[in-house]
Amino acid sequence: MSVRRRLVIGNWKMNGSKAENEQLLSDLVKLQNAAAANQAAELAVCAPFPYLQQVADILKDSAISWGGQDVSEHAKGAYTGEVSVAMLAEFGCAWAIVGHSERRAYHGEGSDVVARKAAAAIAGGITPVVCVGETQAEREAGKTLQVISSQLEPVLALGADAVTKMVLAYEPVWAIGTGLTASPEQAQEVHAHIRSLLVQADAPEQRVLYGGSVKAANAASLFAKEDIDGALVGGASLVATDFQGIANA
Ligand code: PEP
Repeated sequence: MSVRRRLVIGNWKMNGSKAENEQLLSDLVKLQNAAAANQAAELAVCAPFPYLQQVADILKDSAISWGGQDVSEHAKGAYTGEVSVAMLAEFGCAWAIVGHSERRAYHGEGSDVVARKAAAAIAGGITPVVCVGETQAEREAGKTLQVISSQLEPVLALGADAVTKMVLAYEPVWAIGTGLTASPEQAQEVHAHIRSLLVQADAPEQRVLYGGSVKAANAASLFAKEDIDGALVGGASLVATDFQGIANA
């Protein structure tokens, strides 16, 4: 029996305002306090950079941790628009999402860059949430497992020491923000493949989250699968009751 603690992370993407965040987080803290006694899942939110201080302030006495949605591979210097690990760490960030499919698609981030970002995060004491996933065309071409292996190759090559400080997230691109969810069986097939790669990397107990239109209604059937250890949640993380519903599942 696995001892991996369930983890549910909200990815707000480029959403929110000071007023909306205040409402969402205070609702979430209330729901979380009410559920805390019978809820085994760990909860986190990844907010846009300008709001990290606000998020840190509101969540400081709660059991909910927070993170950034990306981080630079570089320590400092002439990298306009980027945010370093040390900057995130100053806010008490626990997490940094790296390699989200929207970063890969719109910012040309390849798996080598993603691996360097993960390494930088670990070196600075932040847990990277490393995202991988295939496109619809790749799935239809029967290349899903091959794509996942190649996206993970430079990440796992960082070595067991590094990999045991990561969380991985399987997010099929065709399921993100589309309302389409991988069936529990489709997701488990990929999670089992990722688990086998983790075993080879000598990090068999790392948590592997599923992401892609997860909602309170479909979370329990996904979480029932052996290798699915929680969720990375976009849209549903913007509504406190929906997000808490997923955590309760
Ligand atoms: C995501 O952004 O990581 C995600 C899974 O989004 P959604 O839940 O909206 O599909």
